[in-house]
Amino acid sequence: MDQPDAALDAIIIGAGISGMYMLHRMRGLGMRARVIEAGTDVGGTWYWNRYPGARFDSESWSYGYSFSEEVLREWEWPEHFSAQPDTLRYLEFVADKFDLRRDMRFGRRVTAAHFDDARTLWTVTMDDGATLSAPILVTALGPLSAFTLPNIPGREDFRGPAFHTARWPREGIDLRGKRVGIIGTGATAIQCIQTIAQDVGHLTVFQRTPNWAAPLHNRRITPEEQADIKSRYAEIFERCRQTDTCFIHQADPRKATELSAAEREAFWEKLYGEPGFGIWVGNFRDVLVDPKANALMTDWARGKIRQRVKDPAIADLLTPRNHGFGTRRLPLESGYYEVYNQDNVTLVDINTTPIERITERGIRCTDREHAFDVLIYATGFDGVTGPYDRIDITGPGGRRLRDDWQAMPRTLLGMMAEGFPNLLMVLGPHTARGNIPRNIEELVDWLTGLLQFMRDNGHHRVEPRAEPVADWVRHVEQAAEGLLFSQVDSWQTGVNRNVEGRQVRRTLGYYGGAVRFRRKIEAVAAGGYQEFAFR
Ligand code: NAP
Repeated sequence: MDQPDAALDAIIIGAGISGMYMLHRMRGLGMRARVIEAGTDVGGTWYWNRYPGARFDSESWSYGYSFSEEVLREWEWPEHFSAQPDTLRYLEFVADKFDLRRDMRFGRRVTAAHFDDARTLWTVTMDDGATLSAPILVTALGPLSAFTLPNIPGREDFRGPAFHTARWPREGIDLRGKRVGIIGTGATAIQCIQTIAQDVGHLTVFQRTPNWAAPLHNRRITPEEQADIKSRYAEIFERCRQTDTCFIHQADPRKATELSAAEREAFWEKLYGEPGFGIWVGNFRDVLVDPKANALMTDWARGKIRQRVKDPAIADLLTPRNHGFGTRRLPLESGYYEVYNQDNVTLVDINTTPIERITERGIRCTDREHAFDVLIYATGFDGVTGPYDRIDITGPGGRRLRDDWQAMPRTLLGMMAEGFPNLLMVLGPHTARGNIPRNIEELVDWLTGLLQFMRDNGHHRVEPRAEPVADWVRHVEQAAEGLLFSQVDSWQTGVNRNVEGRQVRRTLGYYGGAVRFRRKIEAVAAGGYQEFAFR
């Protein structure tokens, strides 16, 4: 495989939203790029996460690519918050339109990437032993692609089918009438639980940490709305550019602590009744930074769980105690709480009766064994750095990225890593993350500008300078200070109790807001990329 591709300009790892767009932009520069993808087709997150109920929490019409008028005109989102099959169909549609698959190789997982300093050449090795080389390597790995199974003994012993939600069987699985056990209560589990609870014989949910959740309020897009959306795309994307998270929602300038109880509760009631993330990122501006404001919101949200769950003891169990409302990524739900009013659903608090092991028949807790036909692991991901840790990436002198980043990634603008020339990252650590495709397009466009600059100036090699990296990492840390969310364990703060060495919080995103992030990266480009060294 090495020989015919010797003339490649770039290798892109990943055929998700990032890799697809990067390929498109590189072609626009006349570059020869090759995408390597572990899955059998495009789609990334939307290819892998086929569990029942998987869908957007972003408004569909704010989520799609914005770069092509043709795609915007032709594609019709069926629902305000698109379900996984439709999103995957959308990405396949985009791949067809731009004939992207022609430069993609599927079914191969990159296991290593080594940089040859003398030749300025990256060589990637795939799980079938094949290699491929090019001067530029783009990691379009996705922040949530390294799924993690629970570190519970006996996983191999279970006799029935068992799946992580990110590896749901393509052909689906009939859960009707079955006894199903699910571990986890994050955004994925919440979608899965509320969807399968109607069909299964009995569902047992193993909960370690409850999460706050608020209603999604999804519905189909009417023909009138479709026409309206299509006529307003420019306005919608401009709105996303102006918000801190690139969603259409923006924090309310008022402070919860300065309003009367009646005023703030009326606002919260309104947000609770509206679709999307308004209740999270469109809340009063002090809710996610001031512990007093957050406590007020948390108390109000607690009341909502009590209203919706009939049994007060179960409502109590479903109420988070270790973090305030919105201080972890807020799952949106559609009837999640009401599921626990059903006779065929049991909630097991594994803090009271811990799981001892997985057995042939099911899950044994300290008090009893629960027997199942099917087990579901909705146990999340080794976020952001996990996908990088799983590839043996070495730079000049054998410098290993995984070791360099153990305590904290060292990036410049989240798009290049210190000590790793010509390694371009899309949505790696230290970039703004919210409405993901909006972030991706911005990063890919910026990287395309960098590549254009290199070409115009006859450079073939780029790496970040040490001092700007130190400044950037400091700035990233400072931007996260004072956010309540930085003080809570989650994938976003780099904690995963199933992964050795990942118990300590790290700042893995840029939390100064997307607008500020854009200003920073645009300033670097306008200044002639002085923070980078070129050859
Ligand atoms: P997650 O939020 O990390 O949740 C994982 C769940 O599994 C947690 O409840 C965790 O409990 C539990 N768990 C993990 N290991 C366990 C163990 N050994 N024993 C018992 N419980 C264990 O992962 P996720 O739900 O997959 O969501 C990850 C992210 O994906 C979300 O935050 C979101 O950004 C994205 N997502 C988006 C959508 C959407 O757009 N609609 C949908 C799904 C996911 P602890 O909290 O105690 O660790």
